[in-house]
Amino acid sequence: MQQASGEHPYDLAIIGSGGAAFAAAIAARRKDRRVVMVERGRIGGTCVNAGCVPSKALLAAAQARHVAAEAGQRFPGISSTAGPVHPVALLVGKQALVEQLQAHKYIDLAAAYGWEVVAGQARFIPDPGDGGGPALQVDQVDGGTRRIQAAYYLVATGSAPLAPPIPGLEEVGYLTSTTAMELTELPGSLLLVGGNAVGLEVAQLFARLGTKVSVVELLDRLAPLEEPEVGAAIAGVFAAVHDSDGRARELRAERLLVATGRRPVTDGLGLEAVGVKVGERGQVVVDEQLRTHNSRIWAAGDVTGASQFVYVAAAHGTLVADNALDGAARTLDYRHLPRVTFTSPQLAAVGLTDAQVAQEGIACTCRVLPLTQVPRALVDRDTRGLVKLVAERTSGRVLGVTMVADGAGDAILAAVYAVKLGMTVSELADTWAPYLTIGEGLRLAAQAFTRDVTKLSCCAA
Ligand SMILES: Cc1cc2nc3c(=O)[nH]c(=O)nc-3n(C[C@H](O)[C@H](O)[C@H](O)COP(=O)(O)OP(=O)(O)OC[C@H]3O[C@@H](n4cnc5c(N)ncnc54)[C@H](O)[C@@H]3O)c2cc1C
Repeated sequence: MQQASGEHPYDLAIIGSGGAAFAAAIAARRKDRRVVMVERGRIGGTCVNAGCVPSKALLAAAQARHVAAEAGQRFPGISSTAGPVHPVALLVGKQALVEQLQAHKYIDLAAAYGWEVVAGQARFIPDPGDGGGPALQVDQVDGGTRRIQAAYYLVATGSAPLAPPIPGLEEVGYLTSTTAMELTELPGSLLLVGGNAVGLEVAQLFARLGTKVSVVELLDRLAPLEEPEVGAAIAGVFAAVHDSDGRARELRAERLLVATGRRPVTDGLGLEAVGVKVGERGQVVVDEQLRTHNSRIWAAGDVTGASQFVYVAAAHGTLVADNALDGAARTLDYRHLPRVTFTSPQLAAVGLTDAQVAQEGIACTCRVLPLTQVPRALVDRDTRGLVKLVAERTSGRVLGVTMVADGAGDAILAAVYAVKLGMTVSELADTWAPYLTIGEGLRLAAQAFTRDVTKLSCCAA
């Protein structure tokens, strides 16, 4: 195994400047290590520039318009209307927020913690001066190349939109979630391929800005990776029509948008030359501690094929700093990792679905509480959604929670604690919950385990 010699100009050289890269750099600087970061695009990576921040900023604006448009139908005595959308102003507002957060959460932090950021494209080369160990060759944005030598390296190059091999797709041309958020004109109609988190968010965004949107999903329901009840609940929201008869159908729209997932970015990195292996899905292969097949090179975030959330990327980055620089041998526990789709209603979940519990051979029991049973939803006059709890049958331990509701993304945090701490449904049912919150739905769903003895279609195993 090749070890770092300790005589390198840097302790850690990082490729990328997203959530994974920044968390690693901050953790390394807190240990007083010398850090250099290489970024070929915008500082801050996907989340702040083209992902979480712009998408949620635009969704919040679209939601405000939607509320104005429909409040009169929801609440007696209220009248409201929504005016026209000005896409350029919307874009300018979104960009101002992105730049504010990019400066505050990224650029200023690099300066405050004191590490060097090199603008350029990095690739690995074997370095004869370091016994054939890895070095970085950087093609700098302002011209010229630079060689960077470090004791350890972190590949934090993220992911990029993945288009499926559909005949004719390239010729027709298509939008991705990234380019869609830069449009200065709203299309009259949009055909969107992909009914998962990003696809659903983008679909609702454009629909609420006035575009006629059609979503095509290959699998048999929207949000196909979540509990089947989620797909059923949001089918109503999205007015989904599911053609399961196998007949071809022609759909036409002004623009096409592909949201069928994202692939790890490894092209041009020279990984093979330094013995770093790439897996079938294009991900950098890492062990549980996030070390690659080259013991001096580590990887973190989307590029590892992990769940694509910025909080996973950040946790990875910190972990790599601890493991690579201090030999901490830390690993992460993903069993209580939450996932949220920021549509309205929001889709939020933690832990296992009942099908996953059955797959693991665990006998389970579950309850599905419709939002019509949750007082907050009643006063909001929006009862589209549900709370589903999955528990181990013998112990009653909560293994998975799914919520479809406005506010579910916040309320799921309580469920994260419940799953992490191994709470049982009885403990959840006996835990205080503030009246007239969506979070109270968790307690009510837990109480349904003792009160509701109706025959259930879930946890059939
Ligand atoms: C539309 C959308 C919405 C999302 N919403 C959410 C959300 O609400 N919540 C959430 O948790 N997550 C969300 N995500 C996911 C989240 O953005 C990603 O999981 C996260 O940003 C991944 O961080 P990362 O550090 O792994 O990579 P990135 O942030 O992608 O950073 C990788 C960086 O590496 C650079 N790079 C690549 N190759 C090289 C090279 N050879 N040399 C130099 N630099 C290079 C790239 O330019 C890029 O800046 C969303 C994603 C999208 C697309």
